[in-house]
Amino acid sequence: MPALNAHLASMPAGYLFREVANRISAYCRLHPDKPVISLGIGDVTRPLSPAVSRAMAEAALEMSTPEGFRGYGPDFGYPFLVRAIYKNLYEPRGITLSCDEIFVSDGAKTDTSGLQELLSPEARVAVTDPVYPVYIDSNAMAGRGGEYIDGVWSQVEYLPCKAENGFVPPLPSHYVDALYLCFPNNPTGVALTRKELQRYVDWALQNGVLIFYDAAYSAFITSPEVPRSIYECRGAKSCAIECGSFSKLAGFTGVRCGYTVVPRELFGGTLHRMWCRRLAAHSNGVSYPVQRAAEAVFTPEGRRDCKENIDYYMNNARIIRNELRSAGLQVYGGVDAPYVWLRTPHGMSGWDFLDHLLENAQVAGAPGEGFGPSGAGYFRLTAFNTAENTREAVRRICAAL
Ligand SMILES: *Cc1c(COP(=O)(O)O)cnc(C)c1O
Repeated sequence: MPALNAHLASMPAGYLFREVANRISAYCRLHPDKPVISLGIGDVTRPLSPAVSRAMAEAALEMSTPEGFRGYGPDFGYPFLVRAIYKNLYEPRGITLSCDEIFVSDGAKTDTSGLQELLSPEARVAVTDPVYPVYIDSNAMAGRGGEYIDGVWSQVEYLPCKAENGFVPPLPSHYVDALYLCFPNNPTGVALTRKELQRYVDWALQNGVLIFYDAAYSAFITSPEVPRSIYECRGAKSCAIECGSFSKLAGFTGVRCGYTVVPRELFGGTLHRMWCRRLAAHSNGVSYPVQRAAEAVFTPEGRRDCKENIDYYMNNARIIRNELRSAGLQVYGGVDAPYVWLRTPHGMSGWDFLDHLLENAQVAGAPGEGFGPSGAGYFRLTAFNTAENTREAVRRICAAL
């Protein structure tokens, strides 16, 4: 045997969505006449804007002409896209960045899992709990997890987000080098106000901590007091790296495009230099047609279509939230994010609630336990479905309570 990465070899299986799928198919095998509606998976369902598809197709055709052919693009993204991201997502909010602080990638999963390479192998990280598993997994594979006992990594600080604290994480109480934050949050659907987020920025500045901020859901924000970017907070350019994505903003989960902002102010330019060096070693960039497609998201037609899709999903979220609340459930999120997080009734575990819903409503969702220990007794429903299916699923859930 070669000497292998023992941290990777001993990773526990990531089983949440596989187990949900297994339970759905087991139910469907026994009841082929009862179709199940899934509000479980966090993937978009609405088609791309035609403006986006056209731009992608035109760019692909350009590539078959001698003048339009392109080989390797710039490692950090074509200037036309970097500029479009800055002009549309940052400048209008009064955030000043230079274009070489924005790095185009094939998605936020790639970037959020790669950020940990900036840290030393001994560095300590904190995550909110429940959490998007990528932040923890990438650190555990690099040896920063410690021991995995009863679903918890011994060296990772988990910041519990529960109904009792309004799903607002406490500040870390142990020494940490980096803190991962994702707001609006997946899975809780809860967002932080600018004032609440400022608290983490101030704390990070005081303690020399790096914040990794995942803004994948910023396009879903409806509340005026919720920031679209962490750089809306004072001093954030000196302590935070932000990842964004076209996946939920424009339905790019299958197209693949995202970006990361690494300001030069961050620790005297060291992190900017390190991220450039790392990307140049890891990546040859994102395909030209995909970057043209992403650019088209910001055309008038692209913007209109993306907004229409987001409004469509958020209307689903509103239906889920309002109906389940009227039915007496404790319901959270769904205002600034396409996720509704609910407390399971009668103290059921999330897994028991999934079984109950399958059996009595033919509806599936994601048990909170799959997102971390503080997810126990909670359940996630997503707004990514048709309005008809969403209404029908909610009707059936209410009848089955
Ligand atoms: C969906 C999602 C992303 C987007 O990932 P991509 O790789 O860009 O598709 C990032 N972060 C969170 C928390 C998500 O839920």
